Amino acid sequence: MATSRAELLQAEAELVRHSLGYLKSMALHSAVKLGIPDALHRCGGAASLPDLLSTLALPCSKRPYLSRLMKMLAVEGIFTAVAVDVDAPPAAGEGAAGTAPSVRYGLSPVSRLLVSGSGACLSPCMLMGTSPLFLEASLRLPQWFQRDGDGEGEPAFAMAHGESPYGAAGHDMEFNALVNEAMGSDSQFMAELVVRECGEVFTGVTSLVDVGGGNGTMATAIAKAFPHVRCSVLDLPHVIQGVSAHESVEFAAGDMMEYVPPADAVLLKCVLHNWSDEDCVKILTKCREAIAQGAKAGAGKVVIIDAVVGSPTHSQQVLEAQVLMDMQMMMLFMSKEREELNWQKIFMEAGFSHYKIQPILGMRSIIELYP
Ligand code: SAH
Repeated sequence: MATSRAELLQAEAELVRHSLGYLKSMALHSAVKLGIPDALHRCGGAASLPDLLSTLALPCSKRPYLSRLMKMLAVEGIFTAVAVDVDAPPAAGEGAAGTAPSVRYGLSPVSRLLVSGSGACLSPCMLMGTSPLFLEASLRLPQWFQRDGDGEGEPAFAMAHGESPYGAAGHDMEFNALVNEAMGSDSQFMAELVVRECGEVFTGVTSLVDVGGGNGTMATAIAKAFPHVRCSVLDLPHVIQGVSAHESVEFAAGDMMEYVPPADAVLLKCVLHNWSDEDCVKILTKCREAIAQGAKAGAGKVVIIDAVVGSPTHSQQVLEAQVLMDMQMMMLFMSKEREELNWQKIFMEAGFSHYKIQPILGMRSIIELYP
């Protein structure tokens, strides 16, 4: 059947949306760097452009361009935009009567998550996702696909930077801090939901080790919400070195491929998606040994927080976020986000007998895994 003119033009617009999609990423990055979500919050959640400008440190030469950034981000749902009564006299700095109507920009449910200082703030995550090291790796993707290496070869990140993200974090202190802060902010966000929605996961657990637990944000939140759980964190030396002492959480520097300390429960949040199936089996085997030693016979468990791609309960947005994260994992580590069947295979190979998936954390699920 012939394509109608409307369909053709719709398809063209779709292509432009996608080919210029990187500008959405960088506009979001710019808004966070300029402190726009915090500025709108200070203005009571919404502000006219002149009011917004008066609170931002923007060079004079760039002030006329802020409206363009705000307009684009409002179309994408990052901010709200409400046309102000056109009969009202224009505020200083806004167009005179007869020019474009003035607009009040406000925080949307999306940008509320970027406001700092009140609960979880995901701005550090956004800055990591659009960090120069990640963007430079993404520029290599077309070449990466075309190049035939030995075996599976190296991921696009290593092709761009000559080392893995963990290698880079080991000596580039700025990148290390960016990653740890970003993961910490994701954990703060998740922890509030886990504590509220998944409390029963920690019933009967007396000790928990958060393997690859980063700066201890999740472990600290669990220790605070469930005082009967003694929490510790295992992570690489360059991560543990940057952590300030906590009363409620113990920190250990080490390699989870070598040793996982004994505990009733092992938590792996956003860790396994960084590894191949083969490495996941190795990590989970170490975790199974840790709970075999740490818990009463058969009472231990491993708790995984990661994506389970393709659950029928997920929205199109969640699916899109998951497949984008999957591409990111491929680019960074040649690892992946997994569907349930893939998880199941890994769990059985690592010697576990059964598991329970609760797809209640948006893009992520909480999986309990039993020996
Ligand atoms: N669980 C944290 C951090 C996830 S990022 C959170 O969700 O916020 C993955 C973590 O795994 C990083 O902190 C990284 O340093 C850690 N990691 C990577 N390789 C490791 C290894 N071999 N042993 C222990 N931790 C490791």
